[in-house]
Amino acid sequence: MRIIDSAKSLIALYKDYRTMDKDDLADFYQSKCDYYQKYVELSLLAGVLASIGYIFSDYLLNGTFVPTLIPRFSILVYLLVFVIVTHFFRGRTVTVFMDYLLGHGMMLATIWAIYFLQDRTHASEGFIIMNLLWITIGFAARPREIALSTVAYFAEILISHSFNHYSNLNIILSLALPCSIAVILSHCLLTLYYLDHYRMQQQLELAMITDPLTQVYNRHLLEKIVSRNALKDAEDSEPIAIAMLDIDFFKKINDEHGHYTGDLTLLYIGQKLSNETHDNDYVIRYGGEEFVIIFKNCDVNHACARMEQFRMDIENAKDTPVPFTVSVGVSKYNGDYTKTIQNVDTALYKAKNTGRNKVVVV
Ligand code: GH3
Ligand code: MG
Ligand code: MG
Repeated sequence: MRIIDSAKSLIALYKDYRTMDKDDLADFYQSKCDYYQKYVELSLLAGVLASIGYIFSDYLLNGTFVPTLIPRFSILVYLLVFVIVTHFFRGRTVTVFMDYLLGHGMMLATIWAIYFLQDRTHASEGFIIMNLLWITIGFAARPREIALSTVAYFAEILISHSFNHYSNLNIILSLALPCSIAVILSHCLLTLYYLDHYRMQQQLELAMITDPLTQVYNRHLLEKIVSRNALKDAEDSEPIAIAMLDIDFFKKINDEHGHYTGDLTLLYIGQKLSNETHDNDYVIRYGGEEFVIIFKNCDVNHACARMEQFRMDIENAKDTPVPFTVSVGVSKYNGDYTKTIQNVDTALYKAKNTGRNKVVVV
């Protein structure tokens, strides 16, 4: 049955959610906020317009626009603060806080306007309508932030009762409470379903930068590093070396042993490079049988020694699909990716032209 399948998938998502540590959760909620914040912002803007639009219902109750004009338009002050703060601060916590500040600004403007109404029995409808805002803002927030805002919402109703003296407070609370619980629950569900989307996105991003044959990174990652110049930041604090490895006479392996053996050889070298580099190094399949290795926090001499050891290991290995050798070019990362790759390429070219099966530094 469909409902049982839904329940099963929800349980699986909840189990996944429980496995996330603090950093994963921070990244997850950042992603959720990034994804929905534009929708929340524009909806809040619609909410501000609606909030001001209630001067017409005030007019129907009071027979005049005058008393509630300032309370209703006071929302523009909150909007101004919202626009300024979100312009300068882009962190998730500040963003969500400002979303709720604007939402509760509408709540306070409503309470202020009710103060000037001759008939306050319709406050219950006004407060119920506020749940549209809580639903909207919840898209960018964490469930616990939604719960916190709900506490503030009830506090605002109860505190305002001390001066607005609602004749139907029980009705107001009994209407608001189930609605608030429903808002929180629906956002717990949305959070879990967003996790499904988030995991899918992670898998796609990983597939985008992974070479399907060797399972090391592919050139997309290198382009990413280049376009963001992601290595530049690290350049001042730590040395970086880049190596390019090319299998010698690989075409011959294909020709003599078949493409399947050629593929196994590529797989072998990809796995060996991954195993023998550090977690924060990058192993990238650059082209057919060429690999780029970015050694983080490693000077060029050390990188050279590591590649020399690797070259010797390959030469003497007994577990390769067929015996083969590699040539390697190494260079110090000089702050400019394109020039460094040119240097590495020159070094590899020298290794190839001076007998292969060697490591050359430029
Ligand atoms: P050199 O020592 O000068 O590097 O010679 P080489 O034969 O290794 O280099 P060359 O560029 O002449 O040939 C590379 C070959 O790699 C040609 C191409 O068919 C093969 N190749 C590229 N990608 C793959 C792949 O994914 N699988 C297999 N099996 N072969 C591939
Ligand atoms: Mg080649
Ligand atoms: Mg080759």
